[in-house]
Amino acid sequence: MKEVNESRPAVCPRCGKTYYGRPAVSREDNTTLICPDCGTREALESIGVSIEEQNSIIETIHRHAPRLR
Ligand SMILES: [Zn+2]
Repeated sequence: MKEVNESRPAVCPRCGKTYYGRPAVSREDNTTLICPDCGTREALESIGVSIEEQNSIIETIHRHAPRLR
């Protein structure tokens, strides 16, 4: 397990967004570090949630946990 400096911004290879905080590991290869939003998206996608619904769920997460943004 690689050590991650959480205070440093990282660029998500999945969406290209710069993010801070703890990354998620992509389900696609179990290696690529992606932003927490994409981690959530992949999890939702795997259970068949539509893009529209993913967006509204992520929006809700941000509203309730702004520090994860
Ligand atoms: Zn991302």
